[in-house]
Amino acid sequence: MLESLRNYSLEALETWFQEHNIPKFRAKQVFDWISKGVTAFDEMNNVPADLKNQLKEHFFINNMMISDVMTSSDGTRKYLMTLNDGNIIECVLMRYKHGNSICVSSQVGCKMGCSFCASTLYGLERNLDAGEIIGQVMTVSRDIQERISNIVLMGSGEPLDNYHEVLKFMRLVNHPKGMNIGMRNITLSTCGLIPKIEALMEEKLQITLAVSLHAAEDEVRDALMPVNKSYAIRPLLEVCKRYAEVTGRRVTFEYALIAGKNDQRTEAERLAILLRNIHCHVNLIPINPVVERSFKASDQAQAKQFQNILKQHGIEATIRRELGSDIDAACGQLRNKHINRASK
Ligand code: SAH
Repeated sequence: MLESLRNYSLEALETWFQEHNIPKFRAKQVFDWISKGVTAFDEMNNVPADLKNQLKEHFFINNMMISDVMTSSDGTRKYLMTLNDGNIIECVLMRYKHGNSICVSSQVGCKMGCSFCASTLYGLERNLDAGEIIGQVMTVSRDIQERISNIVLMGSGEPLDNYHEVLKFMRLVNHPKGMNIGMRNITLSTCGLIPKIEALMEEKLQITLAVSLHAAEDEVRDALMPVNKSYAIRPLLEVCKRYAEVTGRRVTFEYALIAGKNDQRTEAERLAILLRNIHCHVNLIPINPVVERSFKASDQAQAKQFQNILKQHGIEATIRRELGSDIDAACGQLRNKHINRASK
């Protein structure tokens, strides 16, 4: 079976080239081309034809096809991409003054079952491999002909449920001779798989860990996020505290504000007490209503009140500016539309 070239690090390629008696510098040339996002061997114009043929016998370039792009009035671009096996994923490009940021998917679908999230409606289809995750960055960068400087693993899927490939992806995209995106410019968002957070902590990467909390009481979180029945709030926060201490990196907590469910004054106060001794930052996100779900976003005044209470307790909190809400940019929304269309 052919192997996906986009899954190969420079070091792994060099080993392969050495084993096949090909000069080492050729591996660097090929890695360069792959990092530039080429979609065919024939684009590698400094690689001799017989070497290209030899490579084609062992490798393929795991392209993804852009099957739809939607551009928001604020410049946000949402991409629907078709993978080799016909599966569809989505990723979102956000344009900021400080550079281009991309939100990538780590799985096709998701099995975590969060009640407000569109990605999980049809369950988990499969994991993406590292090459398919970096492929999203390459494809978008090529499409806009610009460098991507920030990555958030906040698209469809639970990154820590695909631990090995996600880690491989972060190392690949960070490689100084590859796309060279700094670890500090990568954010990994998780619903809170404690053993995997502990494993990640040992890697001591300089990435930002974002944890989807969304509630300050187990009863409320149980109802929103089934994962809470295995990994409840207190032990989760305990590991987050250790994570910040061990890595020296501030943890981000994501808190989606849902009108009447988790946005009251008492919830804000409870949250402030829970987070008291953690080096953290809270990102408040008025929930993005999903057609299939019945939640309503908290209004601005309620969000502001929630933020102020946290601040009064010395906890840094920001209300996330909504980007791309006119193009269904929340996780899984575009893909679901496509699936629904296809099944009609
Ligand atoms: N599985 C990971 C990452 C994917 S979702 C995680 O759970 O963190 C990225 C973020 O978007 C998470 O905080 C998730 O809870 C949130 N999210 C999902 N659906 C949303 C919606 N409809 N409105 C607002 N935030 C949502």
